[in-house]
Amino acid sequence: MSKISVAISSCLLGEEVRFNGGHKHSLVCTKELAKYFQFKSVCPEVGIGLGVPRKPIQLIGDPKQPRAVQVDNPNFDVTEKLKTYGQRTLPHLQDICGYIFIKGSPSCGVFRVKVYRENGMPNENPGSGIFSSVIIDNYPLLPVEEAGRLSDPVLKENFVNRVFAYHDWQQLAKEGLKINKILDFHSRYKYSLMTLDCESCVKLGLMLANGDGADIEKLGSKYFTLFMHTLTREATRHPTPMY
Ligand code: SF4
Repeated sequence: MSKISVAISSCLLGEEVRFNGGHKHSLVCTKELAKYFQFKSVCPEVGIGLGVPRKPIQLIGDPKQPRAVQVDNPNFDVTEKLKTYGQRTLPHLQDICGYIFIKGSPSCGVFRVKVYRENGMPNENPGSGIFSSVIIDNYPLLPVEEAGRLSDPVLKENFVNRVFAYHDWQQLAKEGLKINKILDFHSRYKYSLMTLDCESCVKLGLMLANGDGADIEKLGSKYFTLFMHTLTREATRHPTPMY
């Protein structure tokens, strides 16, 4: 089986592209996940022409709409450049089935990136990286994870499952959605879904049972949206038993 295409922050592959000329090599990615995934390396800060080494940047302002500026010069603002680079990168990511970003980066962070106030203190509400936000906004169902979290076996397994499921669905969509194929897909993932959220699993099953004759594209889109949202819930170590 050919490897699944997954995008990744370049520094996680050991590429020396960080502001200080270093990297953040992730062995989990290059030793374990590389067995299944073909990585597509992206460094947005290098992509917008900031050199290596370079002065570090940080997020400032409103955590919902932060600006990315140089730490020692807030007038050096690369927000729009990072957003434009994100938009320009989208067409090159159409075949990916997942994205591994890096924690804390003002460009590539996902979950709890520090956003600073004018007085230099961090806002209590964190934000997300400028580049990663463009990717996530445009591919809202794409499995994404931060490399650091992949050291947790449960989160790693959950991410790998999501990537495989996303890939499986992309193949189905390429061949043309058909109700019997979606039903087969559902049977393959039913038990994974049950361990995460029994209620959603039942909802998905009913959606398909009542969906014969419905517009298949609309049904597929509704099904896959709830499917991915359910799969994104972290697997619990002690799922509710089914009776
Ligand atoms: S911009 Fe992203 S890929 Fe590039 S060095 Fe920073 S965190 Fe790594």
